[in-house]
Amino acid sequence: MCAPGGSSYVRHMTCSRIIRMLAFATLLGVGATFGFRDGIVAGVIVFVLVVPFEKLFRRHDQRLRRPGLGTDLAHVVARPVLAPVGLVVAVVVGALSFAWLPGLALRPIVGALPGWARVAAGVALFDLAAYWAHRWSHEVPFLWRFHSVHHSAAHLDWVSGFRVHPADGALLAPPFVLLLGAGFTPATVGALAVVQGVVGLFLHANVRWRLRPLQRVVATPEFHHWHHANDPDAWWTNYSGLLPVWDQVFGTYRVPADRRPQVYGTDTPVPVDLVGQLTWPLRGLPRPGWVLRHPVATARRTATAARRGLGQVWHSTTRRRHPVPVPF
Ligand SMILES: [Zn+2]
Ligand SMILES: [Zn+2]
Repeated sequence: MCAPGGSSYVRHMTCSRIIRMLAFATLLGVGATFGFRDGIVAGVIVFVLVVPFEKLFRRHDQRLRRPGLGTDLAHVVARPVLAPVGLVVAVVVGALSFAWLPGLALRPIVGALPGWARVAAGVALFDLAAYWAHRWSHEVPFLWRFHSVHHSAAHLDWVSGFRVHPADGALLAPPFVLLLGAGFTPATVGALAVVQGVVGLFLHANVRWRLRPLQRVVATPEFHHWHHANDPDAWWTNYSGLLPVWDQVFGTYRVPADRRPQVYGTDTPVPVDLVGQLTWPLRGLPRPGWVLRHPVATARRTATAARRGLGQVWHSTTRRRHPVPVPF
């Protein structure tokens, strides 16, 4: 008996909570033991580097201990558990994306470039692929399930960028595979992915700099804060991770000069706690037991879902701006 006294329902709930906490602590220990601690280290580094600037150049008048901070910190602390899960999903997504095919087609062109131009092409190509992965994660409802966790943050600051579902982070796998197909080394592509991830963390900082001369050249906090704005005028905009040129090319660039983003978050009803945010996007999906018992029905359902998903990707890719309201 986990909780003496009380009804059996309360005892059951308390037991299940304790079991969940023990399981989480075990996974955390295993993850940390096997070296998946980079996320926590990154959290400490970003705190030290960014918080002083947030104090000196504050954008929104919010305290360090603001609503939602506990959930964001929980995402940081859970990194040793979430990172290996994300890695497994990334391998599957990367393999199924067939992004290496266009990469192979580009390989002769990339191979003919001199060293500096090859690096520039690698950055541009990676960011182009990441632009589309990000855009589809907004405009394809199944992908939005996972990405909406990131957009559920109603306050942006040094730690908001850590609020990412591991399956959402795995969408960087196709850009990774594309560049491998094009002939870039895993070390180069890994470095690009790390740079994009680190820059992404800084883009959420609660700093008031507009950095106007750079605004159309590189991603800035102002650019990404507009991406997070829960403002109909800002929905479906600013997807680039490093180079806003892709938003300008594909018609999704939006950084108004006369006003600034005020309200963040999403109308999608994302749970506020870590466990809820990790499990909620999976709701409605068949359970593993059902899949094992019904392989034919599973294959049929998967084929139907894949066909629908590819249609939505095609629809998203061939339109300048998404024509429907927030999906879900
Ligand atoms: Zn987004
Ligand atoms: Zn963000």
